[in-house]
Amino acid sequence: MAHSTHETASAASPTAAPATTYVRKGFGLKAEVQDTLAADYTGHLVDLLRARDYALTVGDTTIRLAREFGFCYGVERAVDYAYQTRLKFPDKRIFLAGEIIHNPHVNDKLREMGVVFLSVSGKGFDYSPVAAQDVVILPAFGVTIQDFQTLRDLGCVIVDTTCGSVLNVWKRVEVYARDGYTSLIHGKYYHEETRATASQVEKYAKGQYLVVRDMAEAELVMDYIEARAGRTPPRPVLSREAFLEKFSVAASDGFDPDVHLDRIGVANQTTMLARESLAIGAAVGEAMARAYGESHKAEHFRTFDTICSATQDRQDAVLELLREPIDLMVVVGGYNSSNTISLAALCAEQVPTYHIADPDEIDVALNAVRYRRIARHHVEDTMQPWLATAGALRVGITAGASTPNNKIGQAVARVFAIRGIDPADVT
Ligand code: SF4
Repeated sequence: MAHSTHETASAASPTAAPATTYVRKGFGLKAEVQDTLAADYTGHLVDLLRARDYALTVGDTTIRLAREFGFCYGVERAVDYAYQTRLKFPDKRIFLAGEIIHNPHVNDKLREMGVVFLSVSGKGFDYSPVAAQDVVILPAFGVTIQDFQTLRDLGCVIVDTTCGSVLNVWKRVEVYARDGYTSLIHGKYYHEETRATASQVEKYAKGQYLVVRDMAEAELVMDYIEARAGRTPPRPVLSREAFLEKFSVAASDGFDPDVHLDRIGVANQTTMLARESLAIGAAVGEAMARAYGESHKAEHFRTFDTICSATQDRQDAVLELLREPIDLMVVVGGYNSSNTISLAALCAEQVPTYHIADPDEIDVALNAVRYRRIARHHVEDTMQPWLATAGALRVGITAGASTPNNKIGQAVARVFAIRGIDPADVT
């Protein structure tokens, strides 16, 4: 399929099109968009925190910032290319397949620049507004094989910002499908990246996938495998019908647990909790060894850690931050941002944690915060009063890979303001 690192359609792309309609390396306008990007996303307080060894203390209020936070290399590149695209084609209609990244501020900036967001339609996007003379930007998560083919057929210019780390997962899943292994993907079946990753199995007629959200869902799969091998798993085993019902939206068409769990290759959405992904990979391997015997495990099981390094670094950094004395954590990032949710989940294991989509969620006048609760399903909550206004307070802060520095800085400023400290005086 496409998404090679070249500016031409890749050899596997079924319909070769002129090289100029497929762009993966930007337009050489990085220097030209640099100032605009800096103006839109740089944060003074974040720069200050970095310069002060990631901690700022004013009176008895201390803010500590994780050493790895915010924009990752994939997001920086995607946003940069989107800005370059606008500059390159000032008169063309520019569409975006979904959101460029999961951050409301960044997406709003692109809307202000006249970029039109295509809406979801079934398993893909509604491309009906797009014509051959238009430009379509593909987000950092990538798009499904079907979506890519639709755009190829339309003949429009495709600016593909799919992150290289996502492409690595695709390669892994494609090899699993080629070799007859069902891809067991630790991820969220509805997330753009996982939908795109799962679709890679369709390059092979017999390719299959199954998406598991967490260890509890992985255990359902492991128990089914062991029961089929004649063993008695520790938990009740789902019937075939119940299994198909449970994973109806998370499995490929034609998936049959009696056929397609014989050989499994584990992969993961790049932004999941790394610790959980590794544990699922190991546990599935052990289940396969119990089912088929250790000597046959390799015939039935493969695994590969596909958590991206940016996600891993941010998770490691927040754990390091939590070794410091911290009273509460503020995690800034879109409510649909998977890596932000993973960071918030890590923090919540140790301290009260407030995942906010935007600094506007902090109301200084009311000393209130609106936040996403750490729960499997999206639930928002409000806390008021939020911060103690007197006495020592140590607030930790981090941000997901799609959160720009200015938004992190604004959150810091609002925490200071609730504590009666004028952010302008923080120097
Ligand atoms: S979180 Fe990882 S995979 Fe996603 S865009 Fe950033 S670097 Fe790429």
